[in-house]
Amino acid sequence: MPEPMDPVPLTSSRPEQIFPALTEAQMQRLISHGTPRSVRAGEVLVEPGDGEIPIFVVMSGELEIVRPSFAQETLLRVIGPGRFTGEINTLSGRRAFARVRARQASGVIQIARESLLALVQTDAELSEIMMRAFILRRVELLAQGLGDVTLVGSSHSADTLRIKEFLTRNGHPYSYIDLERDPDVASVLDRFHVSAADTPVLICRGQTALRNPTNREIAKCLGFNEAVDESRIRDLVIVGAGPAGLAAAVYGASEGLDVLLLETFSPGGQAGSSSRIENYLGFPTGISGNELAGRAYTQAQKFGAQMLLTTGTRLTCDRRPYIVELEDGARIPARTVVIATGARYRKLPLENLARFEGAGVYYGATFIEAQLCRGEEVIVVGGGNSAGQAAVFLAQSAKHVYVLVRASGLAGTMSKYLIRRIEETSNITMLPHTELADLDGSDHLERVTWRNTQTGKTENKSIAHVFVMTGAEPNTAWLGGCVRLDGNGFIKTGPDLSAEDLNDAHWPLSRRPYLLETTLPGILAAGDVRGGNVKRVASAVGEGSIAISFVHQVLKE
Ligand SMILES: Cc1cc2nc3c(=O)[nH]c(=O)nc-3n(C[C@H](O)[C@H](O)[C@H](O)COP(=O)(O)OP(=O)(O)OC[C@H]3O[C@@H](n4cnc5c(N)ncnc54)[C@H](O)[C@@H]3O)c2cc1C
Repeated sequence: MPEPMDPVPLTSSRPEQIFPALTEAQMQRLISHGTPRSVRAGEVLVEPGDGEIPIFVVMSGELEIVRPSFAQETLLRVIGPGRFTGEINTLSGRRAFARVRARQASGVIQIARESLLALVQTDAELSEIMMRAFILRRVELLAQGLGDVTLVGSSHSADTLRIKEFLTRNGHPYSYIDLERDPDVASVLDRFHVSAADTPVLICRGQTALRNPTNREIAKCLGFNEAVDESRIRDLVIVGAGPAGLAAAVYGASEGLDVLLLETFSPGGQAGSSSRIENYLGFPTGISGNELAGRAYTQAQKFGAQMLLTTGTRLTCDRRPYIVELEDGARIPARTVVIATGARYRKLPLENLARFEGAGVYYGATFIEAQLCRGEEVIVVGGGNSAGQAAVFLAQSAKHVYVLVRASGLAGTMSKYLIRRIEETSNITMLPHTELADLDGSDHLERVTWRNTQTGKTENKSIAHVFVMTGAEPNTAWLGGCVRLDGNGFIKTGPDLSAEDLNDAHWPLSRRPYLLETTLPGILAAGDVRGGNVKRVASAVGEGSIAISFVHQVLKE
């Protein structure tokens, strides 16, 4: 192995916050949480792929943090006395990305994950320093693509986009080799005995090459679920990690509950696909949904909540503890459940829609999609707020944005501030009484036809990007009749439940259901999935948070 050279330069202007030096008093407080240890020069303390890793605080000597990649090592950092190792994965218990090795004979304090969690929950000063360092380190790894996976793919491939999105939305750093542009592509493919026809290929920890893996296979290869004990009876199982589920996780875990989140895709839910949320309290310049979700997820982890990346497929509700069944057949026992499964996008009734999903047809307008259609014409379908936001956001980088609405205008469906922005943006055109009639292309969308529903006149356009923002349906099918739904399939809760609903459901208690409680005691619903909910991030967060006060009451009963 060659000697590492200079460390990779940081992209951040805040190196002192990424690798802060602790004061003598702070070090003394840390010592009580860990075990002193002497290490020899060259001794390896952490290997990439190790799970449940401790952190190390350097008392004397030096540690080096390196990333092995194929036959080489990249030196990320050398840290001396007063500085500490660790990263977001240390909190979650997921596997390490980097190797930590003593550069010389050194003295360290080893702090186990459980002790680290106790420390960041109780020592406000150290918590701020360490959490900020862990978050900024992850931001740095993401910015530099320094993870444990390499994706080889094409920017014209829907599956490449899907994999990028899955890794990005899960905050997992990766490097990308583009089939069409990267000169190294042939040697990387040869090394793993795969061809361009096999792409997208995901090279997992430099060892396994997965050909066009499903999201589930990626999660397995990267060990996303390994640190979670599935057999323990949890105080609270939350199904869905959108804003409502994340809020329930933060409040539940911070109030001492044993919390497990179940999520199909990534933390953030629908909000995670929003390019900029401008009406969420406390963010006057707006925040991207993914950033908000990333922060909330880290906060939940800090308080000890855990997450399984999986789908809840069935609720066993005829006995307690309740059981949430997972797609792989595993059964998670829960004293209480918060259902926060949100809603899913309505699709357009176009025959070949699925062929172009991710290859020209998108359901979210984030930075990734905006890059794909930079300088080109795009279509946004829909007249609600999400359509308005997407149009305004895309107009910053696209050549022209056409907003297709079936109604005569936007006034009844979109916030005034967005309508004003659309009117003031010269490269947005709103087309009333218009619907998409046809999509056309080969591997990627190339042309569309739209139709005026009043005149029947159709128009053909060479447009390769369509953003569908036409509303959503509740994710309640998996509940299999366990809880009462309203006429549109949303979950009925609290005061919305009539005496008849409760009778039919055999409500067993003398009290009525709490505000967010369903027809089953201790099963609550929060966010978009709940009937009567205002479909906003703030209301989802509010409901997820207050659900916890009812969880406490149920647990006392
Ligand atoms: C593009 C876009 C922009 C938006 N912009 C704004 C905005 O600016 N301001 C605003 O206030 N609101 C905005 N909204 C609305 C807002 O995002 C939603 O109201 C909010 O996300 C609802 O949160 P939720 O947690 O209830 O549900 P969701 O966000 O829908 O999250 C539900 C989660 O549950 C998961 N899930 C579903 N079924 C299962 C299952 N069986 N097992 C495990 N997991 C499951 C899903 O994968 C998802 O992650 C926007 C929505 C979109 C689509």
